[in-house]
Amino acid sequence: MKNISLLGATGSIGTQTLDVIRTHPDKFRLVALSVGKNIELARKIISEFNPELVSVQSKEDYDQLKLELGAATKISYGEDGLVEVAVYEKSDILVNAVLGSVGLFPTLQAIKAHKVIAIANKETLVTAGHLVMEEAKRQQVLLLPVDSEHSAIFQCLQGEHDKDIERLIITASGGSFRDKKREELVGVTVKDALSHPNWSMGAKITIDSATMMNKGLEVIEAHWLFNLPFEKIDVLQHRESIIHSMVEFQDGSVKAQLGTPDMRVPIQYALSYPNRITLTSSERLDLAKIGMLHFEPMDLDRFYALKLSYEAGKIGGTMPTVLNAANEVAVGAFLNERISFLQIDQLVEKALEKHNVIKHPDLDTIRSVDLETREYINSLL
Ligand code: NDP
Ligand code: MG
Repeated sequence: MKNISLLGATGSIGTQTLDVIRTHPDKFRLVALSVGKNIELARKIISEFNPELVSVQSKEDYDQLKLELGAATKISYGEDGLVEVAVYEKSDILVNAVLGSVGLFPTLQAIKAHKVIAIANKETLVTAGHLVMEEAKRQQVLLLPVDSEHSAIFQCLQGEHDKDIERLIITASGGSFRDKKREELVGVTVKDALSHPNWSMGAKITIDSATMMNKGLEVIEAHWLFNLPFEKIDVLQHRESIIHSMVEFQDGSVKAQLGTPDMRVPIQYALSYPNRITLTSSERLDLAKIGMLHFEPMDLDRFYALKLSYEAGKIGGTMPTVLNAANEVAVGAFLNERISFLQIDQLVEKALEKHNVIKHPDLDTIRSVDLETREYINSLL
């Protein structure tokens, strides 16, 4: 039996994690969780799973829930609450499925508390991958990828040696606008951008998929998780999202992981690792029915956010922190219909151009650069 702490229980990854836990009551038990503002859903989750600790985002919701719940459930809130859930003493694994760089500090604290971490929260690795990986190495803590591409690479690397890796090939569906030229993106709506062809995900990552920033964040995420230079990380457009990513080895052999687009597979693999367990409700892959798989090179001028990500990643230091923070604010502004779709990349580029990189930033530096970037983008809106 593994005890699980879950950050972001009400989100897309969070609810799919609950689904995995629900189908294996003999293997997993939810002991602590955090939610943001969706208190309606939080109430349902609490009554079904009976966690010992619950954290909410605001003080108001905390006061309300404290009145409703008995003494058996401990309640907490804010960033301190996220940390309490992340380090909860009875938990063996932390699933970090919160959205954004707010996940960084709880992740670092969980590593210090020697929790195994199943990480979906890619913004944390983009904003300060060096701090997370250094701490994980120091504490000898296992970091298990949940992002489907990184889970695929991690699965391909089982039984292999790092020295044999020639390159990683991260696949990209292309997002909602993959068949549109850049000039055709003028005036696209939030609703258009939110209709992803293959995956059902949270709003922010669906927009990131449409701009291709998601793939940029994933390239930086892969750089940290697999300790490889950017020159060895390629992106390939693959519209069916059946091959979740590949690894090429020095003998020219390429390994791929395939499956239907279902996030419960990589979530469950991280939870059951190093074992595999059944996932009965998942649709099985039927390649005869699919017939053909397609691959195209990525056009970095068309998918400008991917180009910006490679550039920021190669410069390193605080550049990826700026990339991520600017993007989080810009995507929020697009979702609130305050800016147009193409302005997302433009704002991110402006923030990168304005920033003087700081090499080897510590946590305080990361936090202040993150905040300054958010303020700068907000001042431009
Ligand atoms: P969602 O927006 O669906 O969920 C985000 C979760 O985080 C919710 O539980 C939300 O709470 C909570 N949350 C958001 N902001 C805060 C905050 N400031 N403080 C506390 N809690 C907060 O996102 P996804 O599940 O789509 O994505 C989560 C992470 O996983 C992201 O980093 C994403 O990139 C990554 N990921 C997602 C994939 C997917 O298929 N969805 C695939 C691969 C990676 P509430 O809703 O209650 O307000
Ligand atoms: Mg992904």
